[in-house]
Amino acid sequence: MMRTETRFDPKRKRVDHKKTQFASATYKEQDYPYRLSFYNVPPTQEISLEEFETWAIDRLRILAELEACSFRNRSPQETAAHIEPLLKKYLPLSANSSAAGGVVDQRLRNERRKDHYSHFILRLAFSGTEDLRRRFARVETMLFKLRFQADDGREKRAFVESLNLNWDVVQEEEKRELGEQLLSATPGLRRLEDENWFKVDWTRVPELVEHRSVFVRKGKAYVPMKEQTSMVLTEFANRLEKGLESTSRALPRLDEDDRLTPILDHLSKNFATPDAGYSESDSPLAGAPISAANIDNLSQHFPLCMKHLHTTLRKNSHLKHFGRLQYTLFLKGIGLTLEDCLLFWRQSFKLITDDQFNKGYRYNVRHAYGDVGGDVNRRGRGYAPYSCQKILTEHPPGTGEAHGCPYRHFSVDNLTSMLQATGVHDREVLRGVKEDVEKKRFHIACNRVFDWAHKTEIKKVKDEGIWGPAELETIVHPNTYFKRSYLLKNLGNAPKQDVKMEE
Ligand code: SF4
Repeated sequence: MMRTETRFDPKRKRVDHKKTQFASATYKEQDYPYRLSFYNVPPTQEISLEEFETWAIDRLRILAELEACSFRNRSPQETAAHIEPLLKKYLPLSANSSAAGGVVDQRLRNERRKDHYSHFILRLAFSGTEDLRRRFARVETMLFKLRFQADDGREKRAFVESLNLNWDVVQEEEKRELGEQLLSATPGLRRLEDENWFKVDWTRVPELVEHRSVFVRKGKAYVPMKEQTSMVLTEFANRLEKGLESTSRALPRLDEDDRLTPILDHLSKNFATPDAGYSESDSPLAGAPISAANIDNLSQHFPLCMKHLHTTLRKNSHLKHFGRLQYTLFLKGIGLTLEDCLLFWRQSFKLITDDQFNKGYRYNVRHAYGDVGGDVNRRGRGYAPYSCQKILTEHPPGTGEAHGCPYRHFSVDNLTSMLQATGVHDREVLRGVKEDVEKKRFHIACNRVFDWAHKTEIKKVKDEGIWGPAELETIVHPNTYFKRSYLLKNLGNAPKQDVKMEE
């Protein structure tokens, strides 16, 4: 889903803490006895710049997907089912019990090391602004919750004990003494034997006190064990928020580091709309009729940005420069050959002569395909189709231009009219799109429309286990939108294949 190309300088291979602004950090070997972590201690071992970036990108995939799940109103169960295979792939974190004899072996240590480092790298990337800090703390807490809830019972208990949270377990004698009060303060509980409590300063559980969900005596709140998860989560979130604030104060010292700053900038931009890499090796749609003559028909599978370019082209028989570039690269990405692309543009520009077309437009199409010009690296490949992030953030369209993303660059009224013109009449969907756009979740709005337009097919591939969550990851590339739409609407006709624009 996200760009995996690294941007480190291979000549400067390692992040050596001794030579950086972290020089005051003391090296400390971490042995990671527990699967879970509150990330209290920053890492100090050396890692390569490549690890620095790729580990962070892997974690970011998970966080971005978690955030998308919440924006798309997925239930906790749906979110867990969706994220689990992605976690296994990008950020596995196994229990001690999965190792021989329950002893933390090298595999477990490697997993935990990656988890530990990637968390702290993203802390650096996302501590710059209040908005990023808030979002990061929110999704990290979601991730922690998923893992905490799925943790092995014994290991979870040992982990919570290791946190030294100063929770006093209420002993049997006191429990009996306060039995009546404890029972009446715990809704739904009938028998004292069915629950245990612990005592904390009441100031640590203000919500429970406010909702009268706990018994309070002598400044101590008696919290039922069933509230343990929410207590642990609150503690996790509080510590993380404090940690992010202190990181933000330390950030200016990082400005001088010309190796890390570009990576961190790139990561934080990726949090708004995850960037999708585009792989040359991505197989074109096997057997799909991708030809100049069929583009009108195929445009039913295009995302709104490309539909808009297509209809504008049909209406005006012309598109301005950035529109032509965005659309040409998209068409290249869906598998249209250079010859067919030239034919498509020639036939579409009805108002000009062959000579004008050859002089004014032919070269640019060939250039986009890498047939002419460009540096040696691009020769033969041309430019990659634009991701949503690129379309959303670069070259906003001016008057008379049709490129860009309608979810971002149209007024809400124009966007609604365009959606209705393309058959989206569902009020709930339109309301959701409006809300997404107001909150600047442009690609979520696009995914909302996709999910609605393909709801029957998505249900089928899920119910029948034809596609897994990885194939239904949040769309962050127009070419993914097309490919996924085409495959879903042609279920049974097309062979199963990857539906993402990535490695
Ligand atoms: Fe196109 Fe991406 Fe915008 Fe959807 S979110 S319309 S795919 S740019």
